[in-house]
Amino acid sequence: MPARAVGFRTGFVFVLASALAVGGLAAQAPAAEQGSGSGVLRSLEVNLYPVRPKQGTVFLIRIKEGGQPVPSLVTRFAGEQVSFQAGEDGWSWAVAAVPVDAPSALELEFDATWPDGRSERFAHVVPVAPGRYAMERLTVAPEYGAPLSPALAARTRAEVGRARAVARGAHDTPPFWRPGDFVRPRSTRVTSPFGNGREFNGQIQSRHTGTDFQGGVGEPVTAAAPGLVRLVDRFYLGGNVVYIDHGGGLSTGYLHLSETGVAVGDTVAAGQRIGAVGATGRVTGPHLHWILRFGSITVDALSVLDLELP
Ligand SMILES: [Zn+2]
Repeated sequence: MPARAVGFRTGFVFVLASALAVGGLAAQAPAAEQGSGSGVLRSLEVNLYPVRPKQGTVFLIRIKEGGQPVPSLVTRFAGEQVSFQAGEDGWSWAVAAVPVDAPSALELEFDATWPDGRSERFAHVVPVAPGRYAMERLTVAPEYGAPLSPALAARTRAEVGRARAVARGAHDTPPFWRPGDFVRPRSTRVTSPFGNGREFNGQIQSRHTGTDFQGGVGEPVTAAAPGLVRLVDRFYLGGNVVYIDHGGGLSTGYLHLSETGVAVGDTVAAGQRIGAVGATGRVTGPHLHWILRFGSITVDALSVLDLELP
């Protein structure tokens, strides 16, 4: 996504005065703006890239403080913390994610606390573009559509829990990356995109939460960005898996590998081989299932390739 010379710059909406029912664009919001306390946060400039992020994608935020600096600022979006990195020119940047089922607007919440205990809270409305994800009908052998046994369901829950813990932990790791650093883990075509609703044997089961890349067994799978390997194991559904913590809230997962070439604790570079395409776990054939998460929100991994600052 090309960076925009002029970002999304509006006033702030005091959180109590604004509402998620706001269906229009935040650019129309200043009429609803109300101050509280010193109103210092109102002098923050906020830019979004893109200006209207899509359901199921990551996007970038830049802020610039006008006037007196805010000593302690906590920012949240869609239930996840948003951590800003100091950039050049007085701007700070952060990444955040729009859940795939988000409404047409969400609030970026800023909480400032002053040394004397005063606090200020503001929300900036982020308009959300529809994801328009498709429905995919799959006809598969009955065993693939059948529910898991209680024992396998418990094992799968535990494995999913471990992957999700890695994803949440990425908030506590400083970013190894900067916008523009992410690359595809395979150069081959995408055989199944993120977000498709999946109907197995006539029943809607789930949404596809990864991006599938074409590949034969043994072909290389590479890290999408610099990061720290947090999890390498053999899962029931995912087969041989590698999960990488990129910091700044972002993590990626690589599933169904025939072999893994990294260990927990390894640091990896973008484009470094971490394993090979396989057909391990519950799959019908070899491919790479690539996952991107921001905290606990799973989004379209391809959207991370578009993160770019002006
Ligand atoms: Zn997949």
